Amino acid sequence: MKKHLKEDRTLVIIKPDGIQRSLIGEIIERYERLGLKLVAIKMTVPNATLVEKHYSSDPEWKKVTGTKAIESYLKKGIKPPSNDPIEISNKILANLKKYLTSGPVIAMIWEGAHAVPVVRKATGGTEPLTSDVGSIRGDFVLDSYQMSDTDGRAVRNLIHASGSNDEAEKEIALWFKKDEIVKYKHIQEKILYDVNIDGILE
Ligand code: ADP
Ligand code: MG
Repeated sequence: MKKHLKEDRTLVIIKPDGIQRSLIGEIIERYERLGLKLVAIKMTVPNATLVEKHYSSDPEWKKVTGTKAIESYLKKGIKPPSNDPIEISNKILANLKKYLTSGPVIAMIWEGAHAVPVVRKATGGTEPLTSDVGSIRGDFVLDSYQMSDTDGRAVRNLIHASGSNDEAEKEIALWFKKDEIVKYKHIQEKILYDVNIDGILE
């Protein structure tokens, strides 16, 4: 049977800078208040193999991420460090391994209708300098590709959030065992999803 939209899931990781900046509560609150349900959570220190596998979930990741970086440079009138998206992404991946293995992270699974796009919207665009105000990255970070490239590191943007349902499924399987995911009812689901709203008036 086709799953209902309310069963959509996404993987969110609070990266080491999110923990070090004491933003765990703030970040969780942003997703919680949307109406999403937290179904798994753990603190862990990832190793380089996990980070490599994580960013290989999407076979197009290198091309897309490298192209995004090049376009962002051109839009600002700055010459990109290379015109080859794969070359740029290989460097990004090496820097990401250092970044994500530098300390504890918090991995979470959030469940609810349109979990993937809703979480991406609340998280904001990859580069904090241009992420929308009101998004987590836009509100709490001042980093940019220009600064991270100059300093030879990954851009610090607090969070990872799955980019598609397919990516989410692969990432969830990578970070969580089945028995770490909890199935439960949240009272709020009645008002979010039930077709008939009854039983409120006395
Ligand atoms: P997102 O996390 O928004 O899905 P990507 O999947 O494109 O972004 O990239 C993964 C992570 O790699 C980003 O969150 C960021 O930490 C880092 N990153 C991406 N592009 C760059 C870049 N051009 N320079 C430095 N770091 C980058
Ligand atoms: Mg991504």
